[in-house]
Amino acid sequence: MKWRGRRASRNIEDRRGMSGGRVGGIGGVGLIAVLAIGYFFGIDVTPLLQQGAPTQQTSGEITQADQEVGQFVAVTLADTEEVWADIFRTQVGEPYQPATMVLFKGVTQSPCGGASGATGPFYCPADKKAYLDTSFFTTMEQRLGAKGDFAAAYVVAHEIAHHVQNELGILAQANQIRASASQERSNAISVRIELQADCYAGIWARTADAKFGSLERGDVAEAMNAAKQIGDDTLQRNAGRVPSPHTFTHGTSEQRQRWFARGFDTGDMAECDTFGANRL
Ligand SMILES: [Zn+2]
Repeated sequence: MKWRGRRASRNIEDRRGMSGGRVGGIGGVGLIAVLAIGYFFGIDVTPLLQQGAPTQQTSGEITQADQEVGQFVAVTLADTEEVWADIFRTQVGEPYQPATMVLFKGVTQSPCGGASGATGPFYCPADKKAYLDTSFFTTMEQRLGAKGDFAAAYVVAHEIAHHVQNELGILAQANQIRASASQERSNAISVRIELQADCYAGIWARTADAKFGSLERGDVAEAMNAAKQIGDDTLQRNAGRVPSPHTFTHGTSEQRQRWFARGFDTGDMAECDTFGANRL
C-alpha cells in the first residue's frame, strides 16, 4: 500500500510507552472472562490463545518499528476518515463522526473490558474507540500466516467498519437482540455483524484506491488472504479442532473473503446487508 507522505489522522490515542503495559498477572482464561464482560468486536483469535498465548513482554519503550507502525496506522485511519466522510455524504446523507484509535502495547483498559494484544484488536461501542496492540501485526504474520501491509490495513478498516455500524445504529440494534438470545443465536448475529464489517472494509479499500491510488499489486490478495486466515473454521482447524459452526462468531474463511470482495467490487453499502441476506 502506498501510504508515505499522506495525511496522518490526529484521532490516535497512543498509550504505548505507558507504564503497566505488561502482560502478566492474568492468565489466558481470566483474560477471556474479562473480555466477555462487554460486547466488543474484534479479530477473534481465541483459538490461538487456547494453544498457548503468545508471550509478550513489553519494556514500555517505543522502538523505531513501533513508530513506523504507528504512522502506518495513522495514515490508514486518515484514509478511513476521508473515505467514510465521502460515503456518508453520498450514501447515508449524514456527516461522518470519526472514531478514535487507541494504540497500546501489552494490556490496556476499555469500557468493554480489559484488552490484550494476545486477544487481537477490537472496537468498543461504549467509548467509540478501536483498540489495537500494534504487535498484533507481527502475530498476524508469524502465527496467522497473514502477511503484508494491506493485511494490516484491512484489520484497521475492519475495526473502523464496526464504528460505521455503530454510527448507523446497527450495533445497538443487534446487541439488543443478542442480549436476550441463546448463545447460538447470539453467535449467528455476531457473524452477520462481522461479515458486514468485512464488506465495509472492502468498500473502504475500493474507495481509498479511487481517492488516493493507494493500492499496489498484490494488496487485494493480502487482504483476501488475511480474511481467509482469520475465518472461524480456519482458526479452529489450525488450533487442532474440528470446526464447530454453532460456535462461529465471525464467519468462515470463504464467507469473509466473499463479503470483503463484494464490498470491494460494488462500493455500495446496500450490497453489504448481511442482515437481510438469505445466504451468508
Ligand atoms: Zn470484527
